[in-house]
Parts: sequence; structure tokens; C-alpha cells
Amino acid sequence: MAAHFLLRPIGRNFSCKDIDGMTETRAHALFARCRWGSETEQICPDCGTVASHYWIKSRKQWRCREVACGRMFSVTSGTVFADHKLPLRTLLHAILLFVSNVKGISALTMSRYIGVAYSTAFVLVHKIREAVTYEQEEESKTKPLDGLVHVDGAHLSGRVRKPRVNKEGQ
Ligand SMILES: [Zn+2]
Repeated sequence: MAAHFLLRPIGRNFSCKDIDGMTETRAHALFARCRWGSETEQICPDCGTVASHYWIKSRKQWRCREVACGRMFSVTSGTVFADHKLPLRTLLHAILLFVSNVKGISALTMSRYIGVAYSTAFVLVHKIREAVTYEQEEESKTKPLDGLVHVDGAHLSGRVRKPRVNKEGQ
């Protein structure tokens, strides 16, 4: 029998070690690839033009090629990480920790692992949680899931618990 997906090498093809060996430029390229599926072409968040937009190295931003638009945008513009101050590698670490800890990760633990203040980690974990449902439209949140669905289970009786009675006091 084949090993479970999570036990196979493909299930752990990205680790903290990979991020540690990464330059900030490589992390930037990875963000671009995750966002647009390409390191050479970007989609303007304003007008939607797909092109190799003008790269402004000093600002780490692109300027839209569309003359009528000319919008400046970064790899995180329009996402929950827009206007981030932390290095992209730190954001990558945070995302990796978040998705690897299936039972969730507290902001305090996150702050210790990635070396940021508790308040910073608190905002970060909330942003990642927001990103999970970011693209979902209101109506799709109530639609039944289809395809292969994995869910956690819990048994709830639905009955109201009987109130506690203090017999000794009577
Ligand atoms: Zn544009």
C-alpha cells in the first residue's frame, strides 16, 4: 500500500531549511510565482493588464505598462500582506508555521519562532486567517462543498444541558 500523502516526500517539499537558504530576492520571486504563476509577467491589480510591467528596482515595485493606468504596485499589493514591514522571508516562515500546525498556532508561539513582538505575531496570524477566506465570496461560504472533502468531526447532542443543582444547600 502506498504511504499516506503527508508521509511521502511530496507532502513535505518545503521547509524552514528552504527558507533559511533563501535570499530576499528569491523569496520575492517565490511570492510573484505564487501570485501570478510567473516571475516575468504580472497582472496589474488596478486594470488587470497582463504584461512584463516596468520594474523599479529601488522601490521593489512595478509600474503598470498601460499608459492610462500607470499604477504602482508591489508583489503584495491588494493582498493581506500589503504595506508589510517584515521581510518576505519572515512572512514565508509565518505562513509555513501556520499551515504546518494543523491544530493551529498561537501568536505567542509564532512570535518566538519567527522572532517578532507578540503584537506583530498576533496581527500576522489574523492576516493569514483572513487570507484563507479572502477570495471567497459571501454566497460561496454557504454552498455545500463538493469533490473529495476532509472534515473534522464532533458529536453534539443538541440537547440543552441540565442545570446544576446544589442539593446540600437545600
Ligand atoms: Zn494597470
